[in-house]
Amino acid sequence: SGSLSVAELAEKLRKESAEIIKKLMGMGVMATKNEELDVTTIQLLCEDFGVEVEEEEIVDVLDMDLYEEEDAPADLGVRPPVVTIMGHVDHGKTTLLDAIRKTKVTDTEAGGITQHIGAYQVEENGKKVTFLDTPGHAAFTTMRARGAQVTDITILVVAADDGVMPQTVEALNHAKAAEVPIIVAVNKMDKENANPDRVMQELTEHQLVPEAWGGETIFVNVSAVKGEGIDELLEMILLVSEVEEFKANPDKRAQGTVVEAELDKGRGPVATLLVQNGTMNVGDPIVVGNTFGRIRAMVNDLGRRVKTAGPSTPVEITGLSDVPQAGDQFLVFEDEKKARQVGEGRQARAKEAERKQSSKVSLDDLFNQI
Ligand code: GDP
Ligand code: MG
Repeated sequence: SGSLSVAELAEKLRKESAEIIKKLMGMGVMATKNEELDVTTIQLLCEDFGVEVEEEEIVDVLDMDLYEEEDAPADLGVRPPVVTIMGHVDHGKTTLLDAIRKTKVTDTEAGGITQHIGAYQVEENGKKVTFLDTPGHAAFTTMRARGAQVTDITILVVAADDGVMPQTVEALNHAKAAEVPIIVAVNKMDKENANPDRVMQELTEHQLVPEAWGGETIFVNVSAVKGEGIDELLEMILLVSEVEEFKANPDKRAQGTVVEAELDKGRGPVATLLVQNGTMNVGDPIVVGNTFGRIRAMVNDLGRRVKTAGPSTPVEITGLSDVPQAGDQFLVFEDEKKARQVGEGRQARAKEAERKQSSKVSLDDLFNQI
């Protein structure tokens, strides 16, 4: 599907382009026949001409999906899995993420000093695995609430001395709803009162039946503090990946999701992006959520400057005009002008929505006061 230009809209409304251009001028918009229109403008014009339109009939020129390149099955190659860790508070999520990073990041040049960018990659048997380590459940719940699906596999951490707790159940329900495969890591196995059988039994009650008991869920016993069971856990992640066959096309413009973002005093807006498809390059024009820019520099999880980033790779970028939000989608554009046009359009629309929202709130407040 394409977008709607002034001329195309004129044809659909059985009007002359000149009439549309005149109306646009009346709205303070200077446009040519070939100008592409956004949904709000199309709706306003239609209203002006007394034509009713259904929302679905309009192509949203600010919708980034429009500009995405299609994948031919032959272009698809295997990509590393993207893994998130979930579980009840204090069951060892952070400790496990640190343990995996410590035991597996063997980059000698970096001297083991890693950069915290909200995600990292490790290698097991020559195969890469990407971990998201944004705090708590944010990676999963906030992003999913915003429609972004970034997780391929979730590790459900359950402390062997504590068993299934409320947030364990919450986490497994999120994963099930998203149809994300779950691997159970039974943690704190070094503790004297560790009781992995109880964890298996409790999770069976939630339909996570261990393979050992004839079910389909993989359970791995670990001790994050002692660094035990990490290799087995990674091997299980790779096993699940082989079955699920996560794929991407490295030969197209990059597309993916914002993992985290902030305003850095010296560098300006800084965002960690997870490339989900395609390959990103320094210099690429990019639209990220309601902002845009040109990628000035990319830094990987080892703190090294890189020039490209392929599928499932997290990188920190600079060069955006504003700070995006975690969960925002991004897309690299071929042409900077187009990126700017779409980015500015999205920014204007977001501001307008915010303005409407805040005026609504103040009205409510007003009525509440009466
Ligand atoms: P989170 O809230 O799930 O991120 O849990 P943390 O990683 O912060 O761990 C909570 C506490 O459990 C900390 O005091 C950890 O040192 C401890 N802990 C984590 N993993 C293990 C483990 O494998 N064995 C033992 N004995 N303690 C652990
Ligand atoms: Mg933690």
